[in-house]
Amino acid sequence: PKFVYSFTEGNKDLKDLLGGKGANLAEMTNLGLPVPPGFTITTEACKVYLGSGSEPAGLRDEVSAHLEALEQTMGKQLGQADDPLLVSVRSGAKFSMPGMMDTVLNIGLSDASVAGLAAQSGNERFAWDSYRRLVQMFGKTVLGVDGDLFEEALDEAKRAKGTVNDLDLDAADLRELVDHFKSIVRGETGREFPQDPREQMDLAVHAVFDSWNSDRARLYRRQERIPNDLATAVNICSMVFGNLGSDSGTGVAFTRDPSTGTQGVYGDYLQNAQGEDVVAGIRNTVPLAELETLDKASYDQLMQIMETLENHYRDLCDIEFTIERGKLWMLQTRVGKRTAAAAFRIAVQLVDQGLIDLDEALHRVNGAQLAQLMFPRFAEERPAQGTKGPERVAWGIAASPGAAVGKAVFDSYTAVKWSRSGEKVILVRRETNPDDLDGMIAAEGILTSRGGKTSHAAVVARGMGKTCVCGAEELEVDTKKRRFATADGQVVEEGDLISIDGSTGRVYLGEVPVVPSPVVEYFEGTLHAGADEEGGLVQAVHRLMAHADVRRKLRVRANADNADDASRARRYGAQGIGLCRTEHMFLGEERRKEVEQLILADTEAERESALRTLLPMQKGDFVELFQAMDGLPVTVRLLDPPLHEFLPDITELSVRVALAEARKDHNENDLRLLQAVHRLHEQNPMLGLRGVRLGLVIPGLFSMQVRAIAEAAAERKRSGGDPRPEIMIPLVGTVQELEIVREDAEKVLAEVRAATGVELDIALGTMIELPRAAVTAAQIAEAAEFFSFGTNDLTQTVWGFSRDDVEASFFTAYLEKGIFGVSPFETIDRDGVGSLVRQAAEAGRATRPGLKLGVCGEHGGDPDSVHFFHEVGLDYVSCSPFRIPVARLEAGRAAI
Ligand code: ADP
Ligand code: MG
Ligand code: MG
Repeated sequence: PKFVYSFTEGNKDLKDLLGGKGANLAEMTNLGLPVPPGFTITTEACKVYLGSGSEPAGLRDEVSAHLEALEQTMGKQLGQADDPLLVSVRSGAKFSMPGMMDTVLNIGLSDASVAGLAAQSGNERFAWDSYRRLVQMFGKTVLGVDGDLFEEALDEAKRAKGTVNDLDLDAADLRELVDHFKSIVRGETGREFPQDPREQMDLAVHAVFDSWNSDRARLYRRQERIPNDLATAVNICSMVFGNLGSDSGTGVAFTRDPSTGTQGVYGDYLQNAQGEDVVAGIRNTVPLAELETLDKASYDQLMQIMETLENHYRDLCDIEFTIERGKLWMLQTRVGKRTAAAAFRIAVQLVDQGLIDLDEALHRVNGAQLAQLMFPRFAEERPAQGTKGPERVAWGIAASPGAAVGKAVFDSYTAVKWSRSGEKVILVRRETNPDDLDGMIAAEGILTSRGGKTSHAAVVARGMGKTCVCGAEELEVDTKKRRFATADGQVVEEGDLISIDGSTGRVYLGEVPVVPSPVVEYFEGTLHAGADEEGGLVQAVHRLMAHADVRRKLRVRANADNADDASRARRYGAQGIGLCRTEHMFLGEERRKEVEQLILADTEAERESALRTLLPMQKGDFVELFQAMDGLPVTVRLLDPPLHEFLPDITELSVRVALAEARKDHNENDLRLLQAVHRLHEQNPMLGLRGVRLGLVIPGLFSMQVRAIAEAAAERKRSGGDPRPEIMIPLVGTVQELEIVREDAEKVLAEVRAATGVELDIALGTMIELPRAAVTAAQIAEAAEFFSFGTNDLTQTVWGFSRDDVEASFFTAYLEKGIFGVSPFETIDRDGVGSLVRQAAEAGRATRPGLKLGVCGEHGGDPDSVHFFHEVGLDYVSCSPFRIPVARLEAGRAAI
């Protein structure tokens, strides 16, 4: 196979092979944009290298051929002593992993060629500055030397010179620093810094390959659910120099504001600097708009190119560029990461600009982003009367939105440790680097005192959807002493509560109360869809939701047990109730007592009396529920949990009985209760007396529930309503169970019909939540008018583990070992549980063509699972009211 592609050969669709950076460098080259020439070594080469420990056969020759061609183009050879060609060796995987992988600049410089570079450029300082950068980057990323050693040496050189600015170091200082750096390399690795340019390049290529498997790259991939086997490509790119003087510089830019979506000039520029300096926050950057006054020609060209890129990619792009003595060079572009709000706004802006259609716009937003927009945010600074209100102590850059409250911590280790023990923490740093990644994941939010919208903290936080305020320069952060000081001298110690607002950049001491988001207010109906709230965010959500509703095949129902939840669900767009759990109707002081009586009943008469008392209570609940969901289906599940859940706690009761005994004070009822508790105690209640089994052994229980449903429906009909109940039998494993319950239920329905004279059309169906039910779905469908897949229990029973027990014990280990990419309780396990769902759906429909199929359970509101249920062709998903908008959006996306 071909392992090396020149930038002139690739294109943006080859990301699998060339990585994102390589594919887009090729795309820009082919668009005729000024990209320094170079070539890309494919991810396939990396895979072979990582698998076998050595380069694939033929790679070396291919690289040599491409290097020769590059040398020809550039008219100089790599590391040539009198006029060296220098290159960067850059990582670049299919998905961007900001700061995760290693890049080495200025490859080709050596003791011999540094003089040539100085002579050619007429700038000795520049040559030595480039060389010291090479030794530093190469030492750290290729040779594995602790980067702090170089940083300290650099700081020392600046101190000796009495400055904090690296620009004050002159050629002689830098030359000395190179010597110092080389001695560090020698001391730490026992070898000299390699002088052979090709050896430098090859070692750097291998280091980039290896960096795919570094701890922080693995951690990032796990967090972002990026597969481990994609591997990285390597880009060899001829160097252009932003560190040649004040007519040179380097910068980053966005074609729109990545946190709001607003069009305009967004970016940072740094004069006389090389690549990494912008993001690392070494010196203060200037806003991109200032480039217009520094170098009008380059600025105009850059604006032109940004427009070209936006129109070409039809999306927000971010770019890296360098200006070398007034000549603009493009070094990177990609479709840029953005906040959730920006994603929605940009998608509809592009529709309005005619660049994309609504389907494409819908494709570009997702449920996770919508969920993020529904989070509450901080209340305005309008303190309640008589209180002081939250104290704002700094105003940084709003880098990634959200309202985060937590205890201040100053290092990654503490962030992880504290969050593991259940504390909410905010990671406070001067600036972050890739080593802070696990702390950033653990924290509620990130606060830095340095760096802009393109700093590491900002970029990574946006990618993770985590709240971030950066560049809060008024704050004096001292990570060694674990505290920060505010401008007015207050000190926040580790463990003190702070609040940060990633939408405004504000930082508060203490805990600030939160308010609902405008998107939730829109769904609630308290904010008009036409409201131009937050720069059109609400309108954007409204338009994309409407389009999702047009496109989707799946209906979306709610899991709701009471009228309040049902009404909210309706406001959020629910098309019925997919799961009404009746067990909640057995709780509360009075009802509980009746349930106890039912359990303790020795005689038919006692049992019937208890059931008679419960009937009107249940009926009342259903009347309210049917009213709230008038005209829409309401699936009521008959009693599911084991009875002992309604009895007092065994220990508590035992103590009570023992104390009473000691006082010689017999309480007959408590004694009977205790006996019942012992009788009903189960080793494994999840697999015990519950669901349909209860209905079959407690005479009259299910009939009472069916009667309550039927009478409630009749009552609603008589008062002009349109109730549409469906009765669902839980935990069925065989069609016989269902047939028996069905027969009884039909009798009750006929009785109610006769007694009320109201025509009732109530479907009877079952949950499919046991493997046996799924496997015998063809038979079960004979007796069921609908199936609702109870994917929570089905996941437990298919895998053979109980959710309550495993999530805390071995799941973390399973996730770390990669046995699960994600918990099967969060996202449906397509291969196992999902495949049973698919088979059961097909078998059920084969028996009964009109069989209605739905899902209840957490998976109904999970984006990936919704896509799966769409593929399987179910009729609806059901989820908690708050997840309904997410399910609607994802069902729409699944259908385009
Ligand atoms: P990352 O993926 O971390 O952004 P890059 O490979 O893009 O890593 O490179 C790091 C920095 O070096 C960037 O600022 C980039 O613009 C700069 N850079 C990379 N290659 C060159 C080059 N050939 N000439 C000048 N600067 C470069
Ligand atoms: Mg880059
Ligand atoms: Mg269940």
